[in-house]
Amino acid sequence: MIEINNIHKSFSANKVLNGVSLKLNKGEVVAIIGPSGSGKSTFLRCINFLEKPDQGEIVIGGIRVNAQSATKEDVWQLRKATAMVFQSYNLFKNKTAIENIMEPLLVVQKMPLLEARNIAMDILEQVGLADKRDSYPSKLSGGQQQRVGIGRALAVNPEIILLDEPTSALDPELVGEVLDVIKRLAEKHMTMLIVTHEMRFAKDAANRIVFMDDGRIVEEGSPFELFSSPKNIRTAKFLNDVR
Ligand code: ADP
Ligand code: MG
Repeated sequence: MIEINNIHKSFSANKVLNGVSLKLNKGEVVAIIGPSGSGKSTFLRCINFLEKPDQGEIVIGGIRVNAQSATKEDVWQLRKATAMVFQSYNLFKNKTAIENIMEPLLVVQKMPLLEARNIAMDILEQVGLADKRDSYPSKLSGGQQQRVGIGRALAVNPEIILLDEPTSALDPELVGEVLDVIKRLAEKHMTMLIVTHEMRFAKDAANRIVFMDDGRIVEEGSPFELFSSPKNIRTAKFLNDVR
């Protein structure tokens, strides 16, 4: 289980997170929705200390890191246990699909070349891109590039994958292939936390939806509960506005 407890974060006078807590069971896919500026990305970034929380605690795979007492070693352990997927893919343009996935294995894990290649090949199969192994990102569609991005996240064998708006740069017809990959990973019990502004995607991908507003979790529930009968008036208004 992954536990995120009472995260607070300010940027100077701007209080962005006001005590956000969330627990995820292994294999659970949780989607975070909410208005722009509500702190969704900051929350994701606080989980692996890309932003250091002012207060709060992260518990992942036997590691417990308190924001106020975190050492460099703690942060390193947290980064190892998590992987992030970005809206903009962040692939190396001068590396092929397989080389992009091998990179963290060679550089971070110092794995021998042949072993890295075998693992990367296996991952390419999982994301449905075995035939694009030697293609450079410029020769791949946005959906394929994002699948390589997810493959690269998988390569480090993380406890959780954090995805920040993974489909928002994609043409609508390419969202489905990323959704399929996420569903396939969920079947293999990969834990994922996905920020998205696409309600359809949230509904199809996630077991649970969390609605954030103003630096707080306002409401959470199953996709069915949250979308068909939101309990909080702010959730209802948000859903009404985005639909
Ligand atoms: P969301 O992802 O929900 O749109 P963000 O987490 O990106 O929201 O941003 C929440 C608030 O935090 C916004 O007011 C944003 O301007 C502010 N913010 C985010 N990152 C930084 C930063 N690195 N420095 C200063 N302010 C930031
Ligand atoms: Mg954001």
